[in-house]
Amino acid sequence: MRRLIFVLCLLGVLTAIGAAQQYDLVIEGGRVIDPETGLDGVRDIGVRDGKIVRVSSEALSGRRVVHAGGLVVAPGFIDLHQHGQDMASQRVKALDGVTTALELEIGAPDVAQFLKSKEGHSLIHYGTSASHVAARAAVFGAPLPAEVIGGEGGTPEILPKSGPATDQPATPEQIEAILQRLRAELDAGGLAVGMGIQYTPGATRLEVIDMFRLAAERGLPVYTHVRSAGRVEPGSAIESISEVIGAAAITGASLHIVHINSSCLRDSLECLAMVEGARARGLDVTTEAYPYIAGMTSVNSALFNPGWREKLGIDYGDLVLPDSGEHLTKQRFDELHNSNTTRWVLVFANTPEIVDKVIPHPLVMIASDGAEGHPRNAGTYSRVLAQYVRGKGTVTLMDAIRKMSLMPSEMLDRSTPAARLKGRLQEGADADIVVFDAATISDRSTFEKPMEPSVGVRYLVVGGTLVVDEGKIVPDVFPGRAILGRGKLVLARGASESSRASEEAGDR
Ligand SMILES: [Zn+2]
Repeated sequence: MRRLIFVLCLLGVLTAIGAAQQYDLVIEGGRVIDPETGLDGVRDIGVRDGKIVRVSSEALSGRRVVHAGGLVVAPGFIDLHQHGQDMASQRVKALDGVTTALELEIGAPDVAQFLKSKEGHSLIHYGTSASHVAARAAVFGAPLPAEVIGGEGGTPEILPKSGPATDQPATPEQIEAILQRLRAELDAGGLAVGMGIQYTPGATRLEVIDMFRLAAERGLPVYTHVRSAGRVEPGSAIESISEVIGAAAITGASLHIVHINSSCLRDSLECLAMVEGARARGLDVTTEAYPYIAGMTSVNSALFNPGWREKLGIDYGDLVLPDSGEHLTKQRFDELHNSNTTRWVLVFANTPEIVDKVIPHPLVMIASDGAEGHPRNAGTYSRVLAQYVRGKGTVTLMDAIRKMSLMPSEMLDRSTPAARLKGRLQEGADADIVVFDAATISDRSTFEKPMEPSVGVRYLVVGGTLVVDEGKIVPDVFPGRAILGRGKLVLARGASESSRASEEAGDR
């Protein structure tokens, strides 16, 4: 009898332990890869309350168990450079393995409005920089629309039309007004100062330095599209990279140079050597690239001010409208460039040989520069895995995952402590997880069909919630949360207890 009571008690205890170890979600038996610790082995992952709570060699039990045998389980990809923030773009990003997509290059014109419009409507995590381009346009009396997301197929209007607001130098009073606006945008949660210097050619070197000073003052980085591309001096890519590295050195701000592939073109490796040199001298400079030979931008922007053909070494016919495939002529270009309507145009200015050298470079993280109209929106991450890891074998699987998750999270760490819990497949980290088939993962998007979703991502977990289940988007789940800059966090700390709690919740 005593023996029976003992067994019953033991069973009760075991049941209690079993219940305590029930996870919301278990990812079972996958090949778990974590670039920070170097883990590459078969494990079970236990997820509870949006966190990875267990990474185990033993079997775990959960309310939902996902069988990941033969699949890779990795930290969800973090895209530092995503313009298209509409739902159609988020769906193809999710199917490409992305759990966080941030608009950091240029930035949303109105940070508060952007965050408000995304709250509760986002499949994946989101955030934005404070836009120098938009602040400048507003100060010059030509403000951009605050609404940036657009509808299905919506074009994000983040670049002003070429004109006085982009081409004229600012007065000292105007520079002060631009700084004022940017301070407010950083207070609202901007993650960085976002600059597109090529889109505001009127900005003097001193104006650029002043923006870097503001970033340094806030302890935030500058993300920038540099002043110019190509080899023609003055105004070469080399000069442009020197300008921003100089501004970082002068001010102490961290610097992230976006899409070094499309800014430096034939001089990409030299530009990477410059970044390497700056880092060797102790400067905090990072960079990124996307795996395509064409870029895409707004045809009426200042990027196409006179001289663009000489700079980029291309002609009218190398500009292609994404919706129709129409190659432009001089006449058609003039018409679109002078129009007040924003139209995206594909810019074929690079070669596969250069892109193939840039992507494997150890300093290069992967970022898509995505928006509807260009295949990079849907295919960037799967393309790297298909073409460089599986195809050419020039990037290891571990390094590809590092370039897509850990490296961007380390960059994001300059902006927010929330980044430390991302880009890692470890106990205590946020449960942002991609599960994919390394043998079949492939991009399907092309310049003709840019929104074809990638194949091979079987499961995607965002903050503990499955948003891709057995290769399909789960309907009506919106676990994406805002990632906010330090300005918002500092403000929140001084605010009331209840609003502080909601800030912190929003930050996760
Ligand atoms: Zn750009």
